[in-house]
Amino acid sequence: MIIIKQGGDEIISGANMKNVPNILWLEEIRKEDIISVGGKGASLGEMASIGLPVPRAFVVTAQAFRRFLVETNLEDKIFSSFDKLDVEDNAALEKVADYAKDLVMKAKMPAIISDDIRKAYKKMSAEELIVAVRSSATAEDLPDASFAGQQETFLNIKGEANLLDSVQKCWASLYGARAIYYRAKQGFDDHTVNIAVVVQQLVHSEKAGVMFTSHPITGEPNTIIEGSWGLGEAVVSGSVSPDKYVFDQRTEKVVDTLISNKKVEIIADGDHGTKLVDVSPARQDAQVLSDAEVAKLGMYGKIAENHYGIPQDVEWGIVKGTIYILQSRPITTIGQKKDNKHMSGQKSEAKIILKGQGAAPGIASGKVVVIRDVKDTGSVREGDILVTKMTTPDMVPAMRKVAAIITDEGGMTCHAAIVSRELGTPAIVGTKTATKILTNGQLITVDGEMGLIYEGLLPQAAAPVQGAAPQRLVAPFSSIITATSVKVNVSIPEAAARAAATGADGVGLLRIEHLILGLNKTPGWFIANNKEEEFVKELHDGIKIVLDAFPGKTVWVRTLDAPTDEFRNMQGGESEPLEHNPMLGWRGIRRDLQSPDQFRLQVEAFKRLWKEGYEHLGIMFPMVSHPNQFIAAKEMMRACGVDVEKVTLGIMIEIPSSAIMIEDFCRAGIKFASFGTNDLVQYTLAIDRNNENVADMYLPQHPAVLHLIHNAIQVCRAYDIECSICGQAGSDPKMATWLVEHGITSISANIDAIAKIREAVARTEKRIILEAARSKDAE
Ligand code: PEP
Ligand code: MG
Repeated sequence: MIIIKQGGDEIISGANMKNVPNILWLEEIRKEDIISVGGKGASLGEMASIGLPVPRAFVVTAQAFRRFLVETNLEDKIFSSFDKLDVEDNAALEKVADYAKDLVMKAKMPAIISDDIRKAYKKMSAEELIVAVRSSATAEDLPDASFAGQQETFLNIKGEANLLDSVQKCWASLYGARAIYYRAKQGFDDHTVNIAVVVQQLVHSEKAGVMFTSHPITGEPNTIIEGSWGLGEAVVSGSVSPDKYVFDQRTEKVVDTLISNKKVEIIADGDHGTKLVDVSPARQDAQVLSDAEVAKLGMYGKIAENHYGIPQDVEWGIVKGTIYILQSRPITTIGQKKDNKHMSGQKSEAKIILKGQGAAPGIASGKVVVIRDVKDTGSVREGDILVTKMTTPDMVPAMRKVAAIITDEGGMTCHAAIVSRELGTPAIVGTKTATKILTNGQLITVDGEMGLIYEGLLPQAAAPVQGAAPQRLVAPFSSIITATSVKVNVSIPEAAARAAATGADGVGLLRIEHLILGLNKTPGWFIANNKEEEFVKELHDGIKIVLDAFPGKTVWVRTLDAPTDEFRNMQGGESEPLEHNPMLGWRGIRRDLQSPDQFRLQVEAFKRLWKEGYEHLGIMFPMVSHPNQFIAAKEMMRACGVDVEKVTLGIMIEIPSSAIMIEDFCRAGIKFASFGTNDLVQYTLAIDRNNENVADMYLPQHPAVLHLIHNAIQVCRAYDIECSICGQAGSDPKMATWLVEHGITSISANIDAIAKIREAVARTEKRIILEAARSKDAE
């Protein structure tokens, strides 16, 4: 018998397979069985053992996999191919990985294993049960070697043949390039790492969601439950605004219930995969969970938390009145900073190869793909890391696929930064040299919060599941109520559901140029080619998606504001004037006032929406420098048939002149004003916001900027006009604190920042009230 020691544990190698079952049932498993059932299997067994209702499952053990390798004579073939492999040589790594996977897939599974799997599958249910087949690597979830996400999972699998095929695919995934690289870097010996496969009844939840067993910030024994219709993915991915319930563990009572309008649900798509469908109108506003169900979930939450000793993040589902607990793990969302620290703590091993500005939070690993021309974006694959000089609107389809984005140029408010934040994709901008230093195929890890790029694939990096982390981060805080409204910025309609899931009090900025830029044709092109209706429809439909996501809440839509250089690459871009400095050029309201057709088409889209009953739609004019421009824009709207006294029209304060002349704007009839600090900072300090060479001088908290903001807030307050902020500075908790102290009415932040801004606002408001009470007492 050969036993190889790894990290103090005995790892069973090829020769000692006798008497070890191919199959273990969940009830037989404890966490000590990790060697046989892997991290996932052990954790499911552990949950079942403490009485949590886990769906039925069995595990095809690591020993079964090992037996497969021995019986098929694959061990030597596979391991000898690893012997001389240099994992830094990407081409060689891919070749060996493909070879090993191919060997595993083509080998016939010995009958002693396949018969056991068949028997176990039959034992699960008389009918052919639909199952999830998940890899569970035996080194997975060890504290220092999280291999999560590197091996495959197959959902919605039915029938013996499909099951056996999926098991074999899971085995093959142990030899994926990323997994081999990872193990090499972690010092694991490939000869000893095994894989188990969990086969579990797939719960076709009628309702499902997540639960934080204690308040994730304060640690109070309040269990926060979010639930919606259909499968839990809708809540986890943020496609829907779920209902929220708070269960007080001390009194064992439901203390808060917030019913949301649940427009969509994710359901099984026949025998294979899932699909997103509309929720029937009758169920949209119906309460998902009864008090009894909330209480029962709360009880399971408590069992899990007591057992593991720390608050848990639990996924649950309910079918025909039966609750299932699908997963339980320590709350990591509030530990993101800690994770980063952990990462920096490993600096000696993890080599930083490049730095830039952390523009969208999250950590991801993957393969570099350098894009020098938008035409090359076809080579971008799911999970790659997109490296480019600066993203452009026509790159958005590729940006959707990637695990992270890195640019040479730009600052926190450039195109790459804005779009990445909305997509929930980690991003680093302004590295200056990424396209020169990073090479195609290179494996790297991106820390989008700290702005650091590491060599290789680091264990802390999430599997490249786009968009997952920030969403979960924001959800639990939406029950905090603040007097200062906390709104959200949206630029791409597909981010509307995620934005709404934050529970924000409305949309403080919807940038519509991203709707148009995404079409790859300039507004001028639509007008010149008699395609006005197409243009109006695109605008109308895109804005409507956002309005629908925020029923009854105000949504401020900004009229077009794209500098001419952003239009240049599009159809019709050849007619755009060449400007020395587009930031100071023909953009915003200045351009619209001189381009009546372009303005008229936008107004037409707004008019249709107002007519359809979207009264909460307000319009915001960008780049106004004089009240006359506001008056002129209002008059143009009136000429287009808008009842301008009835609708909500306001301005952005992006130019110092508009901050200085704010009183004249108030007299001219604005209904609100919103600080566009991205521009206000650059125009006050003469610092190009997109120039990485002067990024360190771009200071939103410069006394001159704060002076302008302070004065404008006071004037707006005197005129009882809503005063807001929608620039990036509003996503900084320190700035939010200052703004609340100075009397701002609302703050509109990025999706990923809503939770921390809401918390900063609540804390500041409480402090102000407390101080006022204390000074009253002292009188
Ligand atoms: C701003 O200037 O702060 C703003 C929000 O507008 P944009 O970033 O689109 O220029
Ligand atoms: Mg601006």
